[in-house]
Amino acid sequence: MWARAAILSTPASDARCPGCGLVMPRRENLPPGGYYNISRECWSVYTEVLANEYGNAALFGQVHQLTVDAYAAQHAGGPHPDKSVDVHLVGLYLVIEKNVKPTDVPPRLQRMVERTEAWPHFEPPNVDWTINVSDVALAEDHAAKVREWSAAVWQAWAPRHAAIAELALRTEA
Ligand SMILES: [Zn+2]
Repeated sequence: MWARAAILSTPASDARCPGCGLVMPRRENLPPGGYYNISRECWSVYTEVLANEYGNAALFGQVHQLTVDAYAAQHAGGPHPDKSVDVHLVGLYLVIEKNVKPTDVPPRLQRMVERTEAWPHFEPPNVDWTINVSDVALAEDHAAKVREWSAAVWQAWAPRHAAIAELALRTEA
């Protein structure tokens, strides 16, 4: 229902992101972006947000991990592989639920990857998103907005929290 309503209300000159619902003017000649469930226009905003974080060491340490995990988890579905969705959901879980320092997350995720052969498929939540990466791009307080956004993405996956927590056991030493 949501998808149908959105398609009907999106003019042809606009591109609607299939992951987060971000509607932007369609742009020609954008690079294809990653293998997430995205519009190219949404991916271009994401790369701008990443550039801001790469250019600011304090910001990078505080929220970069949350940014990459929130973006990936909000763009599940379509061509996005289960392994990637699972890894990024566990990343959100570690920071938001377990208070793991963001910079300590990558080695833990690496441990889980080494221990996992079959990745569960988590059907993406059917959500009418009210926050996405463009809100981070426009925010005066980048870090606060990333925290708000990642919390909303994590909350949307609530029906899978228990399964994600179980998967996260494989990150432990
Ligand atoms: Zn998007």
